[in-house]
Formats: sequence, structure tokens, C-alpha cells
Amino acid sequence: MTEIPRPLNEDELKEWQWRLNEANRHNVFCHCRHCGEEWVDSFTDVPCKSCGSGDVERIACWQFPDG
Ligand SMILES: [Zn+2]
Repeated sequence: MTEIPRPLNEDELKEWQWRLNEANRHNVFCHCRHCGEEWVDSFTDVPCKSCGSGDVERIACWQFPDG
């Protein structure tokens, strides 16, 4: 028999989203497409710290695989 995965209940889903939001809020890897500057920030809407460009690629650190 194939085991059907149990869907997350509401509380589990809320906690999961909270964890993602927290991780995302405090660990956003930023890469400026304009000057190549790279940094980690807590916000997703800041311009490049180096050149002020708004053309910044942002990757939440939790998206990186462990190790
Ligand atoms: Zn820049």
C-alpha cells in the first residue's frame, strides 16, 4: 500500500510560515546586478549599499540547501 502524506494542519502551517518569514526577514542574501556587491540584510526592499542601485537580486537564505 502507498502511504498518503498527511497534510499540515492549520497550526503546523502557521508555524511553518512563521519560520519562513523569520528566516526570510533576517537572512536575505542580496546581490547587486549593477556593481556586483553582495551582502546579507534583514530587509528585502533596500537599494544596493555600495552604489545605491535598486536593481538588486535577493535570495532568502533559507532557500540555500544545508551544507
Ligand atoms: Zn551596487
